[in-house]
Amino acid sequence: MESTRFDNSTKDIPLPSETEYKRKLIEKTKHLCKRMRWKAFFFLNTNAEGSRKETFGFSSRKSPPQVHAMLNFEKRLLGMIESIKFWKVQCEFQKKLSADIKNNIVKSDKLLVPADKTSNFYRMDTTSYNDLLQKNITKTYKKVTQVTTCSIELEAKAIAKKLHLDDRINTTAKREAFITLKDHKPNFVNNPTCRLINPAKAEIGQISKQLLDRINTRLANILQLNQWKNTKAVLSWFNNIQHKDMYSFIAFDVVEFYPSISIELLSEALQFASEYDTITDNERHIILQAKSSLLYSYGEPWGKKTSSNLFDVTMGSYDGAESCELVGAYLLYKIKEKFGGICDFGLYRDDGLGISRASPRQTELIKKDLCGIFSSYGLKITIEANKKVVNFLDVTLNLSDGKYMAYTKPGNIPLYVNRKSNHPPRIIENIPKSINKRLSEISIDENSFNQSAPLYQKALDDSGYHHRLAFTPSLTQSLNSTRRNRHRNIIWYNPPFSKNVATNVGRTFLKILDEEFPENHVFHKIFNRNTVKISYSCMPNIKQKIDGRNKSILQKTTAPPILKACNCRRPADCPMAGNCLRSSVIYQATVTTEDSRPAQTYVGLTETTFKTRFANHKSSFNDPSKRLSTELSKHIWHLKEAKLKFGITWKILKQTTPFSPVSNRCNLCLWEKYFIICRPELATLNKRNELVTSCRHANKFLLKNFKPTTATR
Ligand SMILES: [Zn+2]
Ligand SMILES: [Zn+2]
Repeated sequence: MESTRFDNSTKDIPLPSETEYKRKLIEKTKHLCKRMRWKAFFFLNTNAEGSRKETFGFSSRKSPPQVHAMLNFEKRLLGMIESIKFWKVQCEFQKKLSADIKNNIVKSDKLLVPADKTSNFYRMDTTSYNDLLQKNITKTYKKVTQVTTCSIELEAKAIAKKLHLDDRINTTAKREAFITLKDHKPNFVNNPTCRLINPAKAEIGQISKQLLDRINTRLANILQLNQWKNTKAVLSWFNNIQHKDMYSFIAFDVVEFYPSISIELLSEALQFASEYDTITDNERHIILQAKSSLLYSYGEPWGKKTSSNLFDVTMGSYDGAESCELVGAYLLYKIKEKFGGICDFGLYRDDGLGISRASPRQTELIKKDLCGIFSSYGLKITIEANKKVVNFLDVTLNLSDGKYMAYTKPGNIPLYVNRKSNHPPRIIENIPKSINKRLSEISIDENSFNQSAPLYQKALDDSGYHHRLAFTPSLTQSLNSTRRNRHRNIIWYNPPFSKNVATNVGRTFLKILDEEFPENHVFHKIFNRNTVKISYSCMPNIKQKIDGRNKSILQKTTAPPILKACNCRRPADCPMAGNCLRSSVIYQATVTTEDSRPAQTYVGLTETTFKTRFANHKSSFNDPSKRLSTELSKHIWHLKEAKLKFGITWKILKQTTPFSPVSNRCNLCLWEKYFIICRPELATLNKRNELVTSCRHANKFLLKNFKPTTATR
C-alpha cells in the first residue's frame, strides 16, 4: 500500500475528449426535449390523465409523443450537436491534469483507495482491497438469502403500485459497498482500519423523504426547537442569548447517530409527530419500509447482523437526513421538557450544543441525565460541560466576551478547485466571493476575520485566485430562504460546459428557442426565455475519473471467464469475423453494390449477442412482411427489386454497457445516438430525426416488472 497525493483538488475538471463531450451533450439535450415534449403534450391536452398526479419526483419512463409544432426545433438542436466545433486549449494547468490522469490513474492496474478524511489516496492491489473489504463487511453484516431481498422488493412494488408509480420506480440498484481508509489512526500502515460505505438505497426512500420533509417542516413551525440547518442558524441563536457571561456551554455529539436509530425509536418519533401532523398508516408504513436496507458486495446481498428486520438508517439513503431530523426533534423536545427552565439546547445533525446557567455541580448532574435520556433510546453520546468557549461546526463561540470566529480543525487544510479547472466560469468566479462571504458571516468583527483569514487566503492563492479576502459585514441577516419552490415552472437545459468547445452552446440554443417559438407561436407561452433556461453542467472531475477507473479494475478481476466469442460451424463463415457471440455492442453494416454506387452504412445496437440480432436482420431481408423493420432491410429490398448484386459486411463499432439503474444511464443507446448524429458518414441509412427515443433496456428494472425468481419460491 503506497500513498499517493494529488497536488490539486480532486474536484478539478480536466478537458474531456470530443466524443466524451458530445455524448454528454446528446444526453442532456435529449433530457430537455423529453421534458419539453411532455409539457407541450399536456399544454395541448389539458385533460390528459397524469398531468396532475403526485409523482414524488419520479419522472415518466414513457417516451413522450412527437409534437408536430416542435419538430423543427428538435431538428435544429440535432444540427447544433452535429456541428459543435472544438478548439485547442493552451493551459499549463490542464496539461498537468491530463498528465496526472495518464500517469497516476490510467496507467496503473492498482486501485486508488481514498482516505477517509484527508485528500490522500492509497494504491492497493485488488486482492488486498477485497480482503479488507470482506473483513469490514463481515464485522457488522451477515449474508441474507434471495428470499429476503425478494420480499423487500415485493413490498416496495406494492407501495409503488398503490401510488400508481410502479411504472416509474426501479428496483433497488445494487450499488457496491466500498471502503475508505482511516489513515489518521495510529499504526495505520500495519493494521489499516476502514470506514465501510454502503451506497445501496431503496428508491421508495425518495417518497419517504418528501413525507418526512412535510412532517419536519410542520414540527419546526409549531415547536420552534433549535434544529439548526447551518452555522448561520447557530450564530443567530448565539446572538440572541442575553447576558452570555452568566451561562456555560454543554456540548455533545451522538456517536454513530444514523446506524444507532432503531425501528422503535423512529416509530416513537413518528407517534410523537402525529400529535402535530396527520400521518396516515400508509405513510408510516412507507417511511419504515424505506429503511429495509441491504448491502451489496459483488452482487451478493448482506444484512445488518444486529437488526432482525434489516432496519437500518444508512448514510447514503434518500431519507437518512430527514429521518435523523425527525428523531432529533423528538429528542430535543424530550430534553426541553426536562431542562427547559435552566438550559437551552439545539441540534445540528449529530452535534448538540446547549447553554446552562446551573452551577458546575448541578451541571454535572444535567450531564448525567442527558446521557441517560439518550441511552434510554439506545443512543450513546460524548459530552463536555462547564465550558465558556466551544468549537461547534465551523465556528468558535465564546460566552465570556460574546464573540465568535471561524474554526478549522487542526490539520484540516482547505483545498479549492483551481482557477484553471474546466468548470463553468460562473462557478470559478464565485469561489473566492463565497469564501469571503462565509468567512465574514462567521466572524463577529474584522479582527476575528483577520485572525482566521490567512489559512484561506493561502488556499486561494495556491489555487490560482487573485482575490484578497477582506471583512465585509453582512447587512441582511435573513434566515428564511424564499427561494424554495419559486422556480417550479422552469425547464432547465443543462448542456455540459467545456473550455475546448468553441461553439457558444448557450447562445446558439437561445437563438434557436427564440426563432422557433416566436411571439405568435402556439407554444410561445410555455417555451420562451423565462420558462426555458440554461445552466451549464460539469464534465467529470478527477475524483469521478478515479472512481470509474477503480470500478473497471474491480470488474475485470471478477468478470466471468471470457466465453467463446464465436460458435459458427465454419469460422470463415462468421459474419463478425469471429466475434458473433459478443453482446451489448454497437455494430455497423456496410452494403456495397457491384455498380459504382457509393457504399451505404447502417448503425444498430444489440443488448443480446450479435448473432441473435444478425438472425433477425437476415430474416428481414428474406421475409417480405418484415421489409419495413429497419432502414437496412428497406434498403436491401430496394436493391433486390432493382436486381442489383450486393454484399454486406459487419463490424463492431463499440462494446459498452447497457442501462444500469446504478448510473441511470444507457451507454448502449447513447453511443448509438452518438454515431448516428455525430458520425453521419458511418450511418448513411439511419434516420437522423429522433433524439427522444425510449430506451428498451431499462424496462426490466422497473418495480412493475419485478417478479420473484423461481428459485426463491
Ligand atoms: Zn461466428
Ligand atoms: Zn438503452
